[in-house]
Amino acid sequence: MIFETHAHYDDEKFDEDRVELLSHLLKENNIGNIVNIGASFRGCKDSLALANQYDNVYAALGIHPEEMDDFSEKNLNWIKENAANPKVVAIGEIGLDYYWIKDEEGRAKQREWFKRQLQLAKEVDLPVVIHSRDAAEDTLNTIVEYNKQNNKKGIIHCYSYSKEIALEYTKMGWYIGVGGVVTFKNSKN
Ligand SMILES: [Zn+2]
Repeated sequence: MIFETHAHYDDEKFDEDRVELLSHLLKENNIGNIVNIGASFRGCKDSLALANQYDNVYAALGIHPEEMDDFSEKNLNWIKENAANPKVVAIGEIGLDYYWIKDEEGRAKQREWFKRQLQLAKEVDLPVVIHSRDAAEDTLNTIVEYNKQNNKKGIIHCYSYSKEIALEYTKMGWYIGVGGVVTFKNSKN
């Protein structure tokens, strides 16, 4: 049985055949469960709706670092309230993305909301799904601090850093996600 741990079936690309696709995946392709991951705030709402609609679909709720316009108290409160839903299994995807956000002000804002969402994960006692790109050091430092005061772990989704850093995470009991980028020509490491 396959457990699909990171999906975005709320994406508009699936608007035309979402129902058909999901019922086929679950019934005929040996996919037992799916976690649909919130990225934007709209994505969080849609992920939860999918989780409520399908028995084998679960949701992760969080604001992705590129979705900076969605960083707000109101949205954070909504996530906190809805994290109590038994179909919500993680907080994510949250993290840092310095590839798309180059200015220091934007990066500082990402770090602030990354920490706030980690804190939220601790409060609601859920594991986390981390998105991190071109921000190896700041992500690792943040997670090391977080890990000291929290038992629940997480996954570094679509991991793209060095073997040495991967070992730092696995030593703490965290997981490394091997995503599609390993098939890119320049991803020799
Ligand atoms: Zn994702």
